[in-house]
Amino acid sequence: MALYDDLAKIVGNKYCSDKDYICVAYSRGLDPCLPEIIPQIVVRPETTEEVIEIVKIANNYETPILPRGGGCGLMGGSKPINEDTVVLDLTRMDKILDIDEENHCVTVQCGINWSRLNAVLFDKGFYTGNMGPGSGLNASIGGGLSHHSGGGGGCAKYGKCSENCIGLKVVLGTGEVINLGSQESRFIIKPFTRLGFGPDLMGIFLGDNGVMGIKTEATLKIFPKPPFYSGKTFLIKENVYENSQKIVLEMIKNGWSKALGIYDYFFTPPAQVMGITTDRLTKTWSDIIGGVIFYVTEAFNEDILEKNSHILEMIAKKYSTKELGPSEEEGNITPWFYEEQGHWQAYHQGFSLLGPNYFVATTEVIVPISKYPVILKKLDEWEEKKHDELFEADAFAGASHVVMLNHNSCYIGGGLAATSDEDLKEDVIKLWKDQLELLLNEGSVLYMCGQIGSHVMVDSRMYSDDFYRFFKKVKSIVDPNNIISPGKFRL
Ligand SMILES: Cc1cc2nc3c(=O)[nH]c(=O)nc-3n(C[C@H](O)[C@H](O)[C@H](O)COP(=O)(O)OP(=O)(O)OC[C@H]3O[C@@H](n4cnc5c(N)ncnc54)[C@H](O)[C@@H]3O)c2cc1C
Repeated sequence: MALYDDLAKIVGNKYCSDKDYICVAYSRGLDPCLPEIIPQIVVRPETTEEVIEIVKIANNYETPILPRGGGCGLMGGSKPINEDTVVLDLTRMDKILDIDEENHCVTVQCGINWSRLNAVLFDKGFYTGNMGPGSGLNASIGGGLSHHSGGGGGCAKYGKCSENCIGLKVVLGTGEVINLGSQESRFIIKPFTRLGFGPDLMGIFLGDNGVMGIKTEATLKIFPKPPFYSGKTFLIKENVYENSQKIVLEMIKNGWSKALGIYDYFFTPPAQVMGITTDRLTKTWSDIIGGVIFYVTEAFNEDILEKNSHILEMIAKKYSTKELGPSEEEGNITPWFYEEQGHWQAYHQGFSLLGPNYFVATTEVIVPISKYPVILKKLDEWEEKKHDELFEADAFAGASHVVMLNHNSCYIGGGLAATSDEDLKEDVIKLWKDQLELLLNEGSVLYMCGQIGSHVMVDSRMYSDDFYRFFKKVKSIVDPNNIISPGKFRL
């Protein structure tokens, strides 16, 4: 086949395949109910130059290409658009190109995953701060930047991962390559800042869910990793949503991350705590009923750590029922979470917990702190209503956790699960869209939207007509033949 031969010439036969058993492996992301679509070819470039050539060939053949990192997306973003699709697997582009210890930044190829990058940085006393998504053992920097990921640790202090991006190399749909951030100036040798070069055009390629171009290299800020940390876990039995919110609001009022060194803050609602204890997901939480919060604070000095820990503990105690801990055996999961990167382990375990017997449909949104109890309650009400209305089978829905992002917003992981009965698939997808629409109507932000979420965003008329027209115009400039991820956002 001419297209195959042209692609194979670029990367070699070893890294280009149209074999069924390879293509089937790329027919879906990690969402179990969107239909599988088997791509015609999978190609695995190693350099930006190879990506440029591939994009040019895709243009010649008018063939859609789909950038894919770790393939851990949960909303159909990393799955082929149609059977003509060429999947561009970027995981061979996994080199660390430069660690600039003096100016605190690292430049990488975008296919490297968060855990491998941080393993190298840890050895030098640094980390990426925001440790990427909960899927960071496999998910790539390129995927994270395409989703504004957060949740895998450190976002209370460092925000979403794209906030720490200061340099980006992108191959456009035309095959042209552009540098964004510091490298917009040809007088700057090493990246150090995102802003200051006229309009901030990098933002067009962040959170784009892979529609605006192929990110091949990125520069992220890195941070010295504080040597000391402490963390506590608390159980809340009454007014669980409101009390968890009171804790975080008071922590913010008392100086939040800057003064108190808060690295992370997680809240798990009662229904999910019940699931975790029933299935023994953690060794230490047994026989507890209620919501659980935990936080981690870091410091460079032991006296400061002690002072901050004391203030945080006093706040948490005011609104909680009891402390789980202080030891791990007594329920304080923070040493596991922080030292062993338990956040990555927990999410992967959490997903496999339901296993092949369930269709899981995920909704991940960002909401302002002021609204998270309201939105959690809306999700509870939604479950109650829809469950009876539509499911005869074993099914449940709701929010699994709340993670603080910076000082004013938080991330709610929600969704639904239903017995993986093929006859229920259509209903699950319908419900999935319904829940997404509810969340959007309540003012949530859907940062990882893939195919299904981006369709709901457009179909629900969330965008104004003028904005959506502008969005389409920008897309037509960076990708005039609409070959990169066509269809998402109804583009
Ligand atoms: C167990 C588990 C836990 C998760 N936890 C979180 C969480 O805490 N927070 C969170 O945000 N998400 C989470 N996710 C969702 C998802 O894994 C992340 O959003 C992650 O960042 C995706 O990265 P990836 O490399 O797997 O991207 P993929 O799934 O491969 O791709 C995601 C999107 O980005 C595009 N893309 C990927 N690489 C590039 C590139 N180089 N250039 C252009 N476009 C590109 C793709 O086309 C696609 O639209 C979780 C998923 C799982 C399975």
